[in-house]
Amino acid sequence: MERWSGKRYHSWSWHLQSVFGEKVAKISLDAGFTCPHRRGTSGGCIYCSPRGSGDFTGEAGKTIPAQFQEMAAKAREKWPEVRKFIAYFQAYTNTLAPVSQLESLYNQALEQEGVVGLSISTRPDCLPRPVLDLLAQFNKKTWLWVELGLQSSHDSTLRRINRSHDYASFVEAVENLKERGIRTCAHIILGLPGETEEMMLQTARALAAQNLEGIKIHLLNVIKNTPLAEMWKRGQVPLPDMATYARWVADILELLPPEMVIHRLTGDSPAPLLLAPAWSLRKWEVLMAIEGELKRRETWQGKKYLP
Ligand code: SF4
Repeated sequence: MERWSGKRYHSWSWHLQSVFGEKVAKISLDAGFTCPHRRGTSGGCIYCSPRGSGDFTGEAGKTIPAQFQEMAAKAREKWPEVRKFIAYFQAYTNTLAPVSQLESLYNQALEQEGVVGLSISTRPDCLPRPVLDLLAQFNKKTWLWVELGLQSSHDSTLRRINRSHDYASFVEAVENLKERGIRTCAHIILGLPGETEEMMLQTARALAAQNLEGIKIHLLNVIKNTPLAEMWKRGQVPLPDMATYARWVADILELLPPEMVIHRLTGDSPAPLLLAPAWSLRKWEVLMAIEGELKRRETWQGKKYLP
């Protein structure tokens, strides 16, 4: 724990500090992509917000430099000392365009003052070979992360939440990224409909075995005007209270390798869009509940990790 400055898990902020020697802020961008899964009749993931999980990004429709400047100015209001940034292509599927267009957009972000790395969020089934090769080039010139939405290692759950890909396609994407030496972060959601606690732990064990560099752990948020909201209104989506969620997260952290960077420990949704759970808006309290649970158990990330 001493190596994580007193925290009981390998936090993203600690990791950035240890790599860059100072505070680094992540700047969320909306590059105007869409998601193949929201087009046509497939309907998208049942929990997806209208902005493709990009609810805190820069303003869609503005150029990458304009969005970056605005968001970096906001970050400086919060942390006046911050000089370094990770440009985060967050909204929708950020590898879904011709390679030349992707290259131009990623370069526009890299050219912004203070940018020391890129983070690119996508689906596991949206990484064809030419895109992988482009990412390999960027991996040589900057500190690159690719973030893969997975949510659960169980195909039954992936079908239930309408992900439209299976676990095998996630494993294949990870292998392709690993072959190219690209840092990879998986996103999971806790509390998905139909999932037991044991299923969530199985997802954690599966990811612990994947040699991933990072993970984002989200709490299931019910967003207005989504298929999930309709299920929730019908009483088909039992949601945890804060203490239960803290216990789940602690259980999962114990199973993950100590080297795996924890990019996030809970979910974030804009208050006007959120139906439930209302307590998730009290993010600081949620983080304190997780830290409290780890302390109460005298446990830490990796305590039950089996290499
Ligand atoms: S893959 Fe992402 S953007 Fe596409 S529908 Fe699912 S959550 Fe939304």
